[in-house]
Amino acid sequence: MSHHIVVVGAGYAGLVAAKRVAGRLRHTDVTVTLINAVDRFVERVRLHQVAAGRHPQYLPLRDLLDGTRVDLLVARVTSIDATARTVHVDRAPHAVGYDTLVYALGSRAHVDAVPGAAEHAHTLAEPDRADRLHRRLARLPSGAGIAVVGGGLTGLEAATELAETRPDLHVALYTGAEPGNLLSPRARRHLRRALDRLRVTVHAGTSVTEVRRDVVVDADGRSFATGAVIWTAGFRAPALAAEAGFTTEEDGRMTVDRTLRSVSHPEVYAVGDAAAGHAVDAAVTRMSCQTAMPMGRQVADVIAARLTGREPRPVRIRYAFTNISLGRRDGIVQFTRPDDSPRASVLTGRTAAVFKEAVVRGTVLAVRGTGPLAPARRPRPRT
Ligand SMILES: Cc1cc2nc3c(=O)[nH]c(=O)nc-3n(C[C@H](O)[C@H](O)[C@H](O)COP(=O)(O)OP(=O)(O)OC[C@H]3O[C@@H](n4cnc5c(N)ncnc54)[C@H](O)[C@@H]3O)c2cc1C
Repeated sequence: MSHHIVVVGAGYAGLVAAKRVAGRLRHTDVTVTLINAVDRFVERVRLHQVAAGRHPQYLPLRDLLDGTRVDLLVARVTSIDATARTVHVDRAPHAVGYDTLVYALGSRAHVDAVPGAAEHAHTLAEPDRADRLHRRLARLPSGAGIAVVGGGLTGLEAATELAETRPDLHVALYTGAEPGNLLSPRARRHLRRALDRLRVTVHAGTSVTEVRRDVVVDADGRSFATGAVIWTAGFRAPALAAEAGFTTEEDGRMTVDRTLRSVSHPEVYAVGDAAAGHAVDAAVTRMSCQTAMPMGRQVADVIAARLTGREPRPVRIRYAFTNISLGRRDGIVQFTRPDDSPRASVLTGRTAAVFKEAVVRGTVLAVRGTGPLAPARRPRPRT
């Protein structure tokens, strides 16, 4: 009987994994099913642009899978039965059995971190949320405020994008650490100048402990009224893995070995934001496309190796740069060592904005199956 590989989640990691494993195993008795909640590929890295009113291109998954041996099932995964090796979904056929499962469901905003955030804060992690935020911002009158909570990369990109698009609004950034504290001094100086230029008010050293309707409350009990609260302070993987009994980390990411295989269930693999993978120097991988796409490619190679009786090579994620958009015309490209620590080398301004746009377009080329990151390269001949 055919070996059934089921990939759940058709984001950067899952789509790459499904296409590549189907290509690698095209001469074997393997079927590959890709399950995704929506029928299109979501360019998640552009969701702050969606919130600002831009419309990314529509990328139907069927087109992206055309000519591959991947079967698409558009359905939401509701649970996974690890004992029966079955994925349950919210529509027919309701249950899909697997021999090998690739878990690639991405991450969500960690809105359970403080009271009120789940009810009152906007988020950017999913397209419908970004659309909802856009509708809210469109209703805000000139002079109103926007509070962005979280000074990580998503918070910085959101605050600057919105400040550039809506200069009539007062954008405030609430962050525990100094913004860009993981960047080199030169990149930090540029970031500071960009935030000043865009008139983003930075409340550094602020711990937001509660969100009320259009209000953030800090650890000293001070409340700040605003027009909309955007929560970008932390991401978590979905609870489905833990609920299924797979070993997970505190943030919901699946605990995997050096081949991206679940440490508790050897027929299960995890990739992308949903996996706590191994970076160099024993660090855990950073949630990013730079992690998700190589993981997608490498998990396909690992599975193909195991199913054809070969020993897979260990997966190790190495970083080269972090790129941050600061609106459409400015940005920072911080070159990094493989362990993700910053080098002195930095691009800023329009050059960085162009660089970042090229990288983002490159990810779409890759999920289409072209360009240097393409998942479905011809397999190397066996030696
Ligand atoms: C606003 C924003 C800007 C970002 N900018 C950058 C950036 O500049 N550079 C960078 O490297 N990273 C960036 N990131 C992070 C990057 O988007 C993620 O790290 C990346 O998307 C992870 O890829 P993934 O395949 O693991 O998950 P995703 O791309 O999120 O894909 C997960 C897929 O699973 C599907 N899914 C989820 N739950 C279910 C379910 N229950 N049933 C069925 N399907 C389901 C989703 O529909 C989706 O298709 C940004 C994130 C955000 C929110």
